Amino acid sequence: MTITKFLSRYNLHDSLISEITFDDDKLFITVDFCYWMQNGYKDDDPETGVINLIFHDVHSYDGITGKVDDFSILDVVYKDNFIIFSICDDYNDVFYKLKFTASSVNVMHERMLCEDCWIEMKQHKNGHTLSWVCENCGYNITTSFFEPYEDDPNTYSIYLNSEHKGTLEEIKLISEIAKCKYLEAKKILRTIGPTEIFRGKAVEVISIREKLEKIGLVFSIFPEFPY
Ligand SMILES: [Zn+2]
Repeated sequence: MTITKFLSRYNLHDSLISEITFDDDKLFITVDFCYWMQNGYKDDDPETGVINLIFHDVHSYDGITGKVDDFSILDVVYKDNFIIFSICDDYNDVFYKLKFTASSVNVMHERMLCEDCWIEMKQHKNGHTLSWVCENCGYNITTSFFEPYEDDPNTYSIYLNSEHKGTLEEIKLISEIAKCKYLEAKKILRTIGPTEIFRGKAVEVISIREKLEKIGLVFSIFPEFPY
């Protein structure tokens, strides 16, 4: 949202800053935010909660960075294109100013709240896309993500553990997984003790595991499979 909209929507007075990070052209400010001070606050909402402010296109930043001990925000003004936070280290009675320019700001709540309606948005997951939608006004935020196993660089082996009967269903599956002929698959199934039937990445291991479990074959994965 624009800085003007942000400052008209969010009253930061008395909220506490716990961390400030300036990275490339982004300024991140972690705030223990006073929901109870806001217009539209309802009694059954939480009184406070952590929010992350992400200011974009910050080319000059004049202020402190790092973890700070809950410095309180006295006020925030927007003047001559500069955003100026006046904050106070209450414990040591020291005042600081954070002065910067920014093109826009995103406010990330622990619960995702609509920037306009202040109500919790519904999360939807579709493939690699995660989105939150406000059912009141339709405002939405979309982000893409990857599951940890999709980025896992390790190679895993799947071993068939014990002697199996070697039914046609089992033979077909092992032949498919081990990429071998039926006769070879039958031999693997009737072998006592572990035989490696597959070596590859976690994504494939997950889909093979599902197939093996479905027909009740006994197997193990090495190294230990964390998913
Ligand atoms: Zn809304």
